[in-house]
Amino acid sequence: MAKILEGKPIAAGIQREVAAEVDALRARGIQPGLTVILAGPDPASALYVRNKMRMCETLGIRSETITPPQDATTDDLLEIVARLNADNRVDGILVQLPLFPQVDSKRVLLAVDPAKDVDGFHPVNIGNLATQRPGLVSCTPVGIIEILKRSGTPIAGARAVVVGRSDIVGKPVSLLLLHENATVTICHSRTRDLPSVAREADILIAAIGKPEMITGDYIKPGAVVIDVGTSRIPDASAPKGMRWAGDVHFPSASAVAGAITPVPGGVGPLTIVMLMANTVKACKLRRSTD
Ligand code: NDP
Repeated sequence: MAKILEGKPIAAGIQREVAAEVDALRARGIQPGLTVILAGPDPASALYVRNKMRMCETLGIRSETITPPQDATTDDLLEIVARLNADNRVDGILVQLPLFPQVDSKRVLLAVDPAKDVDGFHPVNIGNLATQRPGLVSCTPVGIIEILKRSGTPIAGARAVVVGRSDIVGKPVSLLLLHENATVTICHSRTRDLPSVAREADILIAAIGKPEMITGDYIKPGAVVIDVGTSRIPDASAPKGMRWAGDVHFPSASAVAGAITPVPGGVGPLTIVMLMANTVKACKLRRSTD
């Protein structure tokens, strides 16, 4: 039976480190600041933003949520972004997705100053990541690397297989693994014979968005499996008839893997704490405090 890699204790450790960094900055009269633009139709977004704001408060990071009206245009949001770009108290700008349908999300994201892009989505930051220059890297991929490192998983020399090639998870985590000297294979919907490619992995990352697709047959005995997927699926035995599911079929996978992250409670807790870490990093890089 696989070891369960719980995200919460790892996230709590990072949270303590971030809190110490914030305290040190504040002792020097600098308070890191994060501003979230909440301008979308998805009711779940408000909850995610509230959780982010709460963690800012706990850590002593100055936080602010801007909620433009439902009929806000692309130009309205570009104006807000421009104002935040110019505000020295704002170290991180997070545009909570999805935005209202009438808004051009790509234009808004591109307008964020790369030095304040705590989501690491701006092409400048993706370029910095690809070329190993200092910059801001998207939160979930960094969180995955933290889980691997802090659970003592050797990365250098390991065969890593990443299933999924999105700009948000698959591609950046592949680059981070490469920079940690893993031998990386990236798979996607057109990969031939995915189970046999996946079975080569010492480290298997599933970031697909297809609930429970990766069964035990995809896993080399003893491999470390990181399940990024989060989907709500019907389950008659669950309290509200629905439950969270990862991309990995936990019962069969945990019988083969050496270690595995659960869903929920695996990668998820890392994502939010890495946002805090990125805000502090942005503050230090931009205000040159090191
Ligand atoms: P995307 O939909 O952007 O990308 C999915 C990727 O999976 C694509 O590259 C796609 O391939 C690939 N894929 C789809 N079907 C298959 C298949 N049958 N076989 C092999 N590859 C396949 O998703 P994201 O990367 O944004 O998210 C992935 C999952 O991670 C989602 O469940 C999301 O909710 C979750 N997530 C969780 C986070 C957390 O904090 N825990 C944070 C971010 C995401 P192709 O490119 O060929 O279409």
